Amino acid sequence: MEPIMSHSALNALEATGKTCPSLAPATALRRIYQVETGPSRAAGTRQGLWVAVFVYLLFAISDLILIPDVAQTAIFARFVVGAASLAILEVLFLAKAGARTVEATSAAAIVAGYLFWLLPAMQTEAVTSIRLYMIFGTIFMMGANLFFIFPFILSVITSVVVLAILLISMVAMFSNEPIYMMTFGLFYVSCFIFTSYVNWKLNEERYNVFLNALEAAHQHRESEKRGVALERLSNTDYLTGMENRRAVDRRLRDYWNDWQTEGKAFAAILVDVDFFKKYNDFYGHQAGDRCLILVASVLNETLKPLNASVGRYGGEEFIVLSRVTGRDQVMALGEIIRSAVEGLHLVHDQRRDGQAFVTVSVGASYTRPQSGPKLERIINEADRALYSAKANGRNCIRLFNPNDPLTSDDNENIAATLRMAIKNDLVHLVYQPIQNLKTGRVEAVESLMRMKMIDGTPLSPAQFIPVAERTGAILDLGLWAIRRACTEVLATGVAPMASVNVSAIQLKSRGFALAVSTILEETGVSGSQLAFEITEGIDMEGQSDVIRCITDLQALGIRIWLDDFGTGFAGLSWLRLFPFDTVKIDRSFLQDARRPAGRAMLEDIIRLIRNRGLKILIEGLETADHVELMHELGIELGQGYFLGRPVPIDEVRIKPFPRLASVGGR
Ligand code: C2E
Ligand code: CA
Ligand code: CA
Repeated sequence: MEPIMSHSALNALEATGKTCPSLAPATALRRIYQVETGPSRAAGTRQGLWVAVFVYLLFAISDLILIPDVAQTAIFARFVVGAASLAILEVLFLAKAGARTVEATSAAAIVAGYLFWLLPAMQTEAVTSIRLYMIFGTIFMMGANLFFIFPFILSVITSVVVLAILLISMVAMFSNEPIYMMTFGLFYVSCFIFTSYVNWKLNEERYNVFLNALEAAHQHRESEKRGVALERLSNTDYLTGMENRRAVDRRLRDYWNDWQTEGKAFAAILVDVDFFKKYNDFYGHQAGDRCLILVASVLNETLKPLNASVGRYGGEEFIVLSRVTGRDQVMALGEIIRSAVEGLHLVHDQRRDGQAFVTVSVGASYTRPQSGPKLERIINEADRALYSAKANGRNCIRLFNPNDPLTSDDNENIAATLRMAIKNDLVHLVYQPIQNLKTGRVEAVESLMRMKMIDGTPLSPAQFIPVAERTGAILDLGLWAIRRACTEVLATGVAPMASVNVSAIQLKSRGFALAVSTILEETGVSGSQLAFEITEGIDMEGQSDVIRCITDLQALGIRIWLDDFGTGFAGLSWLRLFPFDTVKIDRSFLQDARRPAGRAMLEDIIRLIRNRGLKILIEGLETADHVELMHELGIELGQGYFLGRPVPIDEVRIKPFPRLASVGGR
């Protein structure tokens, strides 16, 4: 019996149409057993025959002693039969004969070995010897039944023939001795019965061992198959048959690792079915499922040839991962996806946005040097891009842009982060120089807030300030910023003056002016070194508490600057309401000033502010041309990337700006 069941046995079993051994027909199992144990039986038989022939030849010695008169012929017979049997056996092996042939040959050799020795031996004169010597015939019987592993039938036939030879020769030689005949005859017959019985038992045992091994191998194969099936099931989306989120997440990690280790770029593209809930509600869940299946299969068909992988990310959302790089390629792939789904022409007349078919919105992001070390970030970016695609009318593609509106999840994260931002050192200030364009001196710095998430992802103020204003976190953060600017810049004398942006929420909050005066006291900074930049974006008319607050701040010596002038709607009434110190003209006017109408507009605004006797600061000076224009217009104060970008405190170097030759005067 082979310890490990070969695959051929299991395959033969499966070929019977029954996968489980206990269900297969007995004859089929026997056949498998014969085939399966064949090689090992043949090898065992060959080995056995060599040993048997060796022992058989050794008996030549007893021939010489017991039957010396016929020993020559008897021994000759032994050698002829022995040599012939082994020769035939080896030829059979060379011819790759089956186990049955080898076994039958060996059985024949047993019979021949006995018969051809017995014939000459019977001629002996040593009657007493041969009477006892004949008993060795039972050894041949035992050989057939116990020594070799013959199938039961073959064993029985062989031993019956040996028994018959024994009995016939006994009758022929000793018919005149009834007692001898009876005792030895009985001995031969019982020998035959017992050894045949043991052979039968042994054969049954071997067969049972084989069946058990087959069963075990079958169980093993089944559990392996179940394992593979389970693995496949756990990675497959039950509805669409495509990879599910689990599988996609794993694939995403692989892509990400390749990007991190080998720099292989990739894009993550989220695809969301537009107005799917409406579709589901109106057409029913079955139709909804069918819709998802159709979208999934068109995505599969379209993306397979492009070597992109696609999976269901949840609900009506799919995700595509592809090794495309760069804006244009990603946009092109997004368009392929969008138009493929549109091309399905699946009717959806419940959407009320002018379209009558199922479409998808596509949000994409791709790896860039600033993607950072976190895998989640690229998905988060794609998610935000998708959100923006939805917000932009759906059925379109959006690439991630850092200034995209945030998703509600993002906003929640930001709100949570804001609560612990100060304590955890997640916020800091950067400073941008404000320059006197006539003297080249930096007169002040504007402090701008910076914040990062716990994982290090930087956020722009456009993202976190509105959240801080909505949640009220701006109150603490605003005071923190004022204190920080006072200690970092003013108390240390890094710059003569600092401006801090202040939200309307802060101005409306109770005790703001008092809190500011405490900060001034504690830091030993004079109020006249500080300016607050207030945006005109809110309607202030009738907000008496704000007006009172501003008056209190001015009493502390703090300058109030009007920020982003020209972008809000209440600019002029603001100018009327407050004695501002400086007005910051929004950089959009500077951009428009290239056209004559734009320039005329800018000149009008400048004239208007000057007429009110206020100082003017223009933001967003990005080029030498811009600075030149400032000189032409006689503007004194400027701020912008050309003059200096916002930098952290230890990079603030205030050195005089060289006076430009063509300084225009007013
Ligand atoms: P803002 O007060 O108008 O600040 C100027 C913005 O323009 C800054 O963006 C600055 O980095 C950017 N900038 C400066 N020079 C140039 C230039 O030459 N070209 C261009 N294109 N941009 C320039 P930032 O830092 O992203 O701030 C955005 C806005 O966030 C600020 O606009 C302000 O409204 C708000 N903000 C920033 N820090 C604070 C703060 O501490 N408190 C409050 N309440 N708001 C803040
Ligand atoms: Ca500002
Ligand atoms: Ca501004």
